[in-house]
Amino acid sequence: MTTLDDNTQQTSSTTALDNPKLNTLADDDIGSIDWDAPESRSGGTYTPQVCPGIHNFLFALEDEKPFETREYDTKDGHVKDFTVNHKGTVSYVADGEQKEAVIRFNQAGFRRTPKMVEKRMNSRGGDLLRSLGIHLDNPSKANVEQALREADGKVMGRGVVNWQAYCKACKEANRFDATWNGIVSTNANTKRGEARWPKGADGKYLTDVQCPKCGATLAGRERITDYKLPQV
Ligand SMILES: [Zn+2]
Repeated sequence: MTTLDDNTQQTSSTTALDNPKLNTLADDDIGSIDWDAPESRSGGTYTPQVCPGIHNFLFALEDEKPFETREYDTKDGHVKDFTVNHKGTVSYVADGEQKEAVIRFNQAGFRRTPKMVEKRMNSRGGDLLRSLGIHLDNPSKANVEQALREADGKVMGRGVVNWQAYCKACKEANRFDATWNGIVSTNANTKRGEARWPKGADGKYLTDVQCPKCGATLAGRERITDYKLPQV
């Protein structure tokens, strides 16, 4: 993915940073700089690790503002949406090794429209509770908060993981329109203008994704896009 290793030539006067035993810098030494290394990428170099699909996750509340009431306008008017912000830790296998990834900043709101009630669709918040095996006879804010604080760091849920990337440069340059809303996703909603995350010749999703409009390399990340019922 990078050519850093090939370009990093250690000279006899520099410290070999890779070897912790040799990594003892003299007082005047600041460490080596690779002047010919590729340009660093904005938005970080993180690429998604967890394959898109259904995964078990360990539920935990976000460190900051785990509960909030989001207010926004919809075609039905101004709404208040009680929301939980949470992490999900997923284990996965890479290079034959068991690893863990923490999927951050998942938002699950509890707002349920009459149409959703009619279609027997739950809010994301309701589906999160069901996924964690929580059943509340009176799901008030206080009861939901208490139940989720008790589940924090202890209870497993099941969800669909997808990869998503967003082009800030295009947002700043006002390049969004009806066909493109800045999002590239492995579960693209093309009606909303999301672009499909590209696959390689082997049929697997590419780990790096380019903005379909400006060509910038985007930092993708995993998101829990749907919740599943626990398996009995
Ligand atoms: Zn772009």
